Amino acid sequence: MFLYPIYQNIKESIAPTLLVAVSKTKPMSDIQEAYEKGCKDFGENKVQELVEKHEALAKDIRWHLIGHLQRNKVKYIAPFIHLIHSVDSLKLLEEIDKQAQKNKRIIDCLLQIYIAQEETKFGLSMEEAQNLLEDTALAKMQHIRIVGMMGMASLTANKEQIHKEFAGLRKFFELCRGKYQSQNIMLQELSMGMSSDYEIAIQEGSSIVRIGSALFGSRI
Ligand SMILES: *Cc1c(COP(=O)(O)O)cnc(C)c1O
Repeated sequence: MFLYPIYQNIKESIAPTLLVAVSKTKPMSDIQEAYEKGCKDFGENKVQELVEKHEALAKDIRWHLIGHLQRNKVKYIAPFIHLIHSVDSLKLLEEIDKQAQKNKRIIDCLLQIYIAQEETKFGLSMEEAQNLLEDTALAKMQHIRIVGMMGMASLTANKEQIHKEFAGLRKFFELCRGKYQSQNIMLQELSMGMSSDYEIAIQEGSSIVRIGSALFGSRI
């Protein structure tokens, strides 16, 4: 199921923010339908599923990895991935750089920052992100580019809380944008907002939203 009227509606209401259609767990036919209606950016959270869909579907689709990435799986997506939203360590970046070089590519990455109240294993604290951006090892990587940041707000009905978390990330992003700029740090993109909170994310300055269930129906 692909809800085209909703897609059109959201796309118009958020422009010029990029809408990434999150197709995880959804069949190829849903993606194909969305593609035929003009959607070219899809997000997946599992490497194997992403690779299978990439192999089967149109080669001009831009694939976004939005879930946790293990270092030993980077090689499978390095030949084609458009943007990795979930970079959370220097070691992972080193592996992405290595695999990008093998494929003669430069891979764009976002640093995943945790902003939610819930405990999570993934993402960097703001302090860790700054340490990463200042690491001398990063300066030597010629096949990656850090083009922005990604964050997920708390799963809560409290809109004030969600505003606060997105605003906090926006502020941190702007601070880093003023402070860090080099041949592989170009902070331009802020990936914030999902089906339940993309309107708030837009108000807080998101440049990419990642929307799944609102477009494809709920996942089981
Ligand atoms: C699943 C997922 C989304 C989309 O969630 P919906 O609520 O279905 O819009 C966005 N971002 C990440 C990181 C996800 O894992």
